[in-house]
Amino acid sequence: MKLPYAEPYKIKMVEKIHRSTQQQREKWIKEANYNLFNLRSEHVFIDLLTDSGTGAMSDVQWSEMMLGDESYAGATSFYKMKAAIKKIFNFDYFLPTHQGRAAENVLFSATVKAGDVVPGNSHFDTTKGHIEFRAAKAIDCTIDEAFNTTVLHPFKGNLDLQKLEAVLEEYPKEKIPMIIVTITCNSSGGQPVSIQNMRDVKALAEKYEIPVFYDSARFAENAYFIKLRESEFKDFTIKEIVLEMFKYSDGMTMSSKKDAIVNMGGFIAMHNKELYKEASMFNIIFEGYVTYGGMSGRDMNALAQGLDEATEFDYLEARVGQVQYLGEKCKKYGIPLQQPIGGHAIFIDAKRFLPQIPKEEYIAQTVAVELYIVGGIRGVEIGTILADRDPDTRENRYPELELVRLAIPRRTYTNNHMDYVAAVMKTIFNTRHEAKKGLRIVEEAPIMRHFTVKLEKL
Ligand SMILES: *Cc1c(COP(=O)(O)O)cnc(C)c1O
Repeated sequence: MKLPYAEPYKIKMVEKIHRSTQQQREKWIKEANYNLFNLRSEHVFIDLLTDSGTGAMSDVQWSEMMLGDESYAGATSFYKMKAAIKKIFNFDYFLPTHQGRAAENVLFSATVKAGDVVPGNSHFDTTKGHIEFRAAKAIDCTIDEAFNTTVLHPFKGNLDLQKLEAVLEEYPKEKIPMIIVTITCNSSGGQPVSIQNMRDVKALAEKYEIPVFYDSARFAENAYFIKLRESEFKDFTIKEIVLEMFKYSDGMTMSSKKDAIVNMGGFIAMHNKELYKEASMFNIIFEGYVTYGGMSGRDMNALAQGLDEATEFDYLEARVGQVQYLGEKCKKYGIPLQQPIGGHAIFIDAKRFLPQIPKEEYIAQTVAVELYIVGGIRGVEIGTILADRDPDTRENRYPELELVRLAIPRRTYTNNHMDYVAAVMKTIFNTRHEAKKGLRIVEEAPIMRHFTVKLEKL
């Protein structure tokens, strides 16, 4: 008999979380103007707002914190991180930054200029933001299968090579500073990219002499999916797969709050020394000197250790396994989810959950608010509120998908918590026909409104 997986760790310290009554939550969410970002965390029972910076560090990571070297220049912690990046990704040059978007800011300051285009697979919102902020354009070349929630495809993060080549043909190479491959593809639901696709993208990029950068926040989860789904690599260790993946890139940006299992941190790494020199200047202006770049020595130590732990098969089997566990349970209850289930979160298809609510009443936000009221669970809307208004017409942009994301923090909750989440979902799903009305916006910011928007129940 094949034995099931079990978490390759036990619990040494616990943190109390707070139950509350539905009546209390109805009051709190009203006071928060039906915006889940406005809730105090102690009013949330199970917090699935994000898996970014919310994971649990190991005893070894905490020990490393004590060994941090806080020297301004040349700290041992810097060299620990440098050695980890060389070992895991094989890059010689790197710059620490305080988080992922800071890495983007520094790298793009050195490479992206007005009028440029940056093709990729559904760029993450901060990535796109930093590109558009420079009056450049992010062009989405993701395969079409990614946009149909019911189609099963093992690598929905893949780039469509024809779409990509069309961009490389249309623009001169001076206008294309890089291709960005996001692993896993966050915006399409934590979906992986195959090594075959990485090889093909790199071959095309070489033909047109364009560098390839990986937006690598969940690179380890991507490697785990490759081991499971791409037969050439089934006998490789995760660390061997990661080295193979990064062979086809010229550099990377990293939000270490994801797959380096730390609460804060990021970096850029690359092969090209000239680019390193140029980016160093921006690092010094925006982040800090090149050997700390916005991070404490102790945080660099924990990050170096986290990279090693996150690239162990047993850890990933439990981590991705827990996400799949929740997803399978919800599917059994008939809850419409985006498929296949990704590496870090499940995505509820709100249009299929509440088909009677019109899109003008913020369907996904209505489901997210209900999850909080009924069960004290905090997810996040990925729908019309997030999509903002059209900058020219000021009309709402209605995206094809209205999703509620439930992101699972790393090593933080048990499968009992997942059972609880699924049970809450089932309760709401069973009474979904009773929902007659959604929500209405009473106040919003001109851009990035989802963080501060105020709503009321219709
Ligand atoms: C989180 C994330 C970022 C931004 O990183 P922060 O640490 O939140 O600044 C960039 N790209 C991807 C794919 C991410 O998931």
